[in-house]
Amino acid sequence: MNEPFDIDAYIGKVPNFPKEGILFYDISPILQHPPALAHVIQKIQHHYKDQPIDAIAGLEARGFYFAPALAIAMQKPFYPIRKAGKLPGKVDSQSYDLEYGSASIEMQPAPQLAGKRVLLLDDLIATGGTLQAAATLLQRQGATVEDLCGVIGLPFLNYQESLASFRIYTLINYD
Ligand code: 5GP
Repeated sequence: MNEPFDIDAYIGKVPNFPKEGILFYDISPILQHPPALAHVIQKIQHHYKDQPIDAIAGLEARGFYFAPALAIAMQKPFYPIRKAGKLPGKVDSQSYDLEYGSASIEMQPAPQLAGKRVLLLDDLIATGGTLQAAATLLQRQGATVEDLCGVIGLPFLNYQESLASFRIYTLINYD
């Protein structure tokens, strides 16, 4: 791996998006610079190289930018977790609280994950609510979820507390 690599240079900071008072971290520049995307994927792969990970799960939408690339790099199957109403056939759903209201995410039944260790990936971890709901879905399939990964972490939103039962890896944190 080519270290050091300033991943911060490839993360846009967009004030007042999606609403007033929110600073949005835009990972699009990572995707548009292959060395930056390669760095992200290689770093995550390296972090888990000694862990017996059986499968990767990732979250719509921005988790999908990274998780399949990681799945190829690690040569593991990828399981998508999507917003409600997007996946065909029988699905399992889990709702979770948002700042105002709630949302639901879904996955297709995956009995083959029973007893398997799944690494769960998203682009950014803020309160941790999304990853907690996704972990619950995977656990209901019998999967073991111990490892959560975000490209970006916002620890000031206290995800370490809400996700205290997991090991969490982030590439870069913002206060
Ligand atoms: P949480 O459930 O941890 O509070 O929020 C994490 C989810 O919100 C992730 O799925 C992530 O894509 C999205 N999210 C929230 N804020 C941002 C942001 O500033 N940048 C990006 N890229 N995603 C965000």
